Amino acid sequence: MTTARSTWVPGAAGSPYDVDNLPYGVFVHDDEPPRVGVRIGDQVVDLAPVAAGDMLEIGHVFEAPSLNPLLELGRPAWQSVRTWLTGLLTDEAERDLVEPHLVPVEEVTLRMPFEVADYVDFYCSLDHATNVGRIFRPDDEPLKPNWRHLPVGYHGRAGTVVVSGTAVRRPHGQRPESGGPPSFGPSRRLDIEAEVGFVVGAPTTIGTPVPVDGFADHVFGVTLLNDWSARDIQAWEYVPLGPFLGKSFATSVSGWVTPLDALAAARVDLPGQDPAPLPYLQVGPGAGLDLDIEVLLNGETVSRPPYASMYWSPAQMLAHLTVNGASLRTGDLFASGTVSGPERAQRGSFLELSWGGREPFGDGRTFLEDGDTVTLRATAPGTSGGRIALGEVTGTVLPA
Ligand code: MN
Repeated sequence: MTTARSTWVPGAAGSPYDVDNLPYGVFVHDDEPPRVGVRIGDQVVDLAPVAAGDMLEIGHVFEAPSLNPLLELGRPAWQSVRTWLTGLLTDEAERDLVEPHLVPVEEVTLRMPFEVADYVDFYCSLDHATNVGRIFRPDDEPLKPNWRHLPVGYHGRAGTVVVSGTAVRRPHGQRPESGGPPSFGPSRRLDIEAEVGFVVGAPTTIGTPVPVDGFADHVFGVTLLNDWSARDIQAWEYVPLGPFLGKSFATSVSGWVTPLDALAAARVDLPGQDPAPLPYLQVGPGAGLDLDIEVLLNGETVSRPPYASMYWSPAQMLAHLTVNGASLRTGDLFASGTVSGPERAQRGSFLELSWGGREPFGDGRTFLEDGDTVTLRATAPGTSGGRIALGEVTGTVLPA
C-alpha cells in the first residue's frame, strides 16, 4: 500500500499527482484516436504504447476510447496494473521505455472517461437533507422517517452525464408561480450540487446482492461530480415520485477517475449512525472517506464541503442499491448526493448557501447566472504522507 519509492518523472514527486495517486482518464492528443492515460505530475502516460513495449498481457484495454474494458477486468487486474505502473514510474531502469510516451497534460483534451451504464444519485448528507427539508417543507420534520434507516436515492439519466469542461445550457421547464398555474420557460433557479461519484467496474448477475464488504471488489474508483439542478422545476415536479427533469438535463464528472487504492489513507470512521441500521447495512471502522472538497464560482471559493461528514458510506449505498437483487453493469455510476457540512461555508449547493434564495451569499449571489463557471476540486490524504488531488470538474452555464 505505502511506497517509499520516489518517481523519476520530473516535478511529480511531492505534487498532488505523485505516484501514490495515478488517476485514469481517456485523452486525445493531436489527431490521434482517444485512448487511456494515467496522470503523473503534469504529464499523462500514454499507456497503450508503454504496455505494448512491455508486452503487458492485458495491454489492449488501454487502446480503447473508454475505461470500460479495464473496469470489467475486476480488482485483481486493477491491482496488478497499479503495481506495474508504480514500478515503471519509480524504477529509473524503466525510464527509457516510458519517457517517450509522456504527454504534457496541457496538450491533451480529456474525454468522458467511461461509458455510463446506469446512474443513481443518493442523498447521504445529514446536513444537506436537513437543510433541504427545512427549505422545501418548512412546516414538516426536515427528515422523512426513512432517512436514518436507508440511503435514499433515485435513478438518474445516464445519457446526460458529461465530462468536465462541457458547457451546460440552462434548461426550460414548468416553473411554479404563486397563486396560479405554472409557467413555461428557462429555469430561474439553476443550481449545482457538489458530489462524489463512484464508478462500478466488476458487474454482477441479477439476483446477487453486493454485501458491504464487497464494495472494493466492484467499485473501481471515484470522480468529482456536479449534479446540476433546476430548483424551480424540481420543487414543482418532485412530489410524489422524486427528481426528474429538474436534474436530468446534465450531470458533470471529472475527466480523471481516482482508483480506490489511491484513497486507502483517506478512510475514516463515519460520524455515527443512530439508530443502528439493519444488518445488511452495518459497516465497521474506516467506512467513510476524508475528502476536502472546494466549490469555486468564477474562480472564487464559495464553499468547502467536508466529505468525512457524510452519514451513509459508499459501501452502504452499493449494498442498498443491490439488496433487492438488482444487478450491476460495468460503467454504473452512483453519486453520494450533495456534500454539506454543518457550517454555512460548508454547504454544497447554492440552494443552501442562499437559504432558498432568501439570503444572498458572496457578492450578493443566489442561483446561477448565464456565463457563470462552477468548478469542484478536492484533495485527500495520500498513502505517502502528502495530499493527492482528485480531478476537477468544471462547467459554464450557457443561456437557455
Ligand atoms: Mn444530487
